[in-house]
Amino acid sequence: MVYEPFEMGPIRPPSEAYSLLIRVTRNCPWNRCRFCATYKGARFELRTVEEVKQDILAAKHIQDDIKAQAWKLGMGNNIRAVALAVMRQPPTHAHLNIALWMASGSQNVFLQDANSIIMRTPDLVEVIRFLKETFPGINRVTSYGRSHTAAHKTLDELKQIHEAGLTRLHIGLESGSDTVLKVMNKGVTAAQHIAGGQKVVASGISLSEYVLLGLGGQDLWREHAIETAKVLSAINPDFIRIRTLGIFPGLEMCADVESGAFIRQTDEGMVAELRLLIENLECTSNFASDHSGNLLQDVEGKLPEDRERMLAIIGQYQSMSPQERLRFRVGRRAGIYVSLDEMEDPRKRLTVEGIIEKLSKGTGEVDDDLVHTLRLRYT
Ligand code: SF4
Repeated sequence: MVYEPFEMGPIRPPSEAYSLLIRVTRNCPWNRCRFCATYKGARFELRTVEEVKQDILAAKHIQDDIKAQAWKLGMGNNIRAVALAVMRQPPTHAHLNIALWMASGSQNVFLQDANSIIMRTPDLVEVIRFLKETFPGINRVTSYGRSHTAAHKTLDELKQIHEAGLTRLHIGLESGSDTVLKVMNKGVTAAQHIAGGQKVVASGISLSEYVLLGLGGQDLWREHAIETAKVLSAINPDFIRIRTLGIFPGLEMCADVESGAFIRQTDEGMVAELRLLIENLECTSNFASDHSGNLLQDVEGKLPEDRERMLAIIGQYQSMSPQERLRFRVGRRAGIYVSLDEMEDPRKRLTVEGIIEKLSKGTGEVDDDLVHTLRLRYT
């Protein structure tokens, strides 16, 4: 096993792909959501301030080392090139993370794991201050947090965390429907989502709320969309980020699918859900679809001014013939199309038609379960 100079957790949001990763706690303190297996079987642990400071110093040491190498090679003015070279043959994952971060400007840091704000406020403040003293060039420090925890912190505590340097919090809202939240064992109510989200906004920390399309299944999709829009409208976060439920093997909710208690939402159903959500949002948030698991990744913009443009993209998809919609879904789920415009590309069209031919065994019919399986393979 390779010795890692500092610890890193398993995930970070796509928008933090080039961030330095500093693990302030291990795993998820809740860990009971039926749709999430990220930390299953892993015990939650708080880390001591001293332990985290040692990791920050280890990260600094690697950064200094890469800078020293650059000067030794006479490339002190082109540290990025040396960082890129380290990325090609990194001795450890930590070196890869630092090199990637340095090649991208060394400005952003993401604090792992699932709910960093559960740390005692003075401890988190101390860690963030130390991080900023060690790396004075950083200008964005972000983390994941739970609404439940944010709701239990005082506004003053969140302000202290913000003043120390936490610029953004990513919260998994998933749904604003109490029924859906309960069925999925999210461990939070719509009222707590609102209380936590509003407090984060009031503290000055930028807030990203993540919505999980499909979480209501076929029975609760309307309630899921409408209640989610209500909660988001009450919070008015800086970002609403869309995710799409994928029922991967190993999730607790697989048992619900097998028993028939949960009927998976179709792609077409999720497009209707997305429309209903956008139609009902009364806020000024940025609406982002920054994940490859989303069918219509072009549906992005600023609310309310881009609402009609976003609905027009949904309308464009919904007005296509069933065959064309199938072609887009298969192309999208097979990783060939990103946007609807790419359907004009004759080479891509041929590839997608070949896949449909194979999947449908020549009939041209591909059922939704097969498209979902394709999606699980490519995202
Ligand atoms: S709170 Fe987040 S990380 Fe924890 S189990 Fe739920 S979805 Fe997963």
